[in-house]
Amino acid sequence: MTELTGARLRSRGSLSDLLRVGPTVDLTEIDPRSTPGLPKKKDPKAWARERLASIGADLARYQEKLYANAKATGDPRRLLLVLQAMDCGGKDGTIKKVAGAMNPLGLHIVGFGPPTEEERAHDFLWRIRRALPEAGQVGVFNRSHYEDVLVARVDSLVPERTWQSRYWQINGFERELVNGGYTIVKVMLHISYQEQRERLLERLTDPTKYWKYNPGDVDARARWTDYQAAYNDALSRCTTDYAPWHVVPADRKWYRDWAVANIVRDALAGMDLSYPKADFDIAAERRRLEADRVPR
Ligand code: ATP
Ligand code: MG
Repeated sequence: MTELTGARLRSRGSLSDLLRVGPTVDLTEIDPRSTPGLPKKKDPKAWARERLASIGADLARYQEKLYANAKATGDPRRLLLVLQAMDCGGKDGTIKKVAGAMNPLGLHIVGFGPPTEEERAHDFLWRIRRALPEAGQVGVFNRSHYEDVLVARVDSLVPERTWQSRYWQINGFERELVNGGYTIVKVMLHISYQEQRERLLERLTDPTKYWKYNPGDVDARARWTDYQAAYNDALSRCTTDYAPWHVVPADRKWYRDWAVANIVRDALAGMDLSYPKADFDIAAERRRLEADRVPR
């Protein structure tokens, strides 16, 4: 397990590059408590929290440009952040911190639970397509179509040949989205078995957190190794140059938030967004307003 320093990061490029997975993922090789790419600081937690605020301001600016282009010019581009994690992995907290920096009007946040009867009557991508963000929006998926190769595989909800065929279906689907103007950012929040236990216990200790506790989470936890294997396959088989997977060590919440915010900012920066130009005569409009009188 390696802890990469800020200096090493600079030589390798952005944090997104650093956290992007290779062609064969083995989660046991990534320490959930590590903080790759974090510069050496006296108080790294305070530093990361402070940086998050300024990255948030960048996110808001980029998001406004994305939204403005769709409104003004019909630009089809949009961003989709896909978040996956084991229970208590911190998806909700990450959404609060990262998406929370953006204008709610331009956000489209969707969580996926067990499919309803209607959803089960359709292909697994049916409900996903219906939940996609519109042009100009930033979409966030709290769980996603990847559940159909994770829980569906581990709990044998479908025969093996069905979930096996889903990896290439997912790749084809994401290719289609990218061709249509989507930028897809996929992030797996990687927590340790021990950290999950702490967080589940916390939910049982604090009455304001009982509502978050689901006894079924302990059953899923018992199949931790199967889930990690399913994650390794999903990440390895569905990381593509057009929609790469990132693994963010997530035992430390302050690192997780900082890292995800960075990855999203890198993606928005890569879209080369600018404010749309006026499609009207600015000087003429100004003259009209200056000559303006209260109507009688
Ligand atoms: P937390 O991480 O805080 O526990 P959560 O994401 O688990 O939050 P819940 O509403 O507790 O939110 O759980 C959603 C549940 O839905 C998960 O157990 C997940 O496995 C399940 N689920 C999501 N998609 C599918 C799917 N396609 N098939 C079967 N189960 C699914
Ligand atoms: Mg849960």
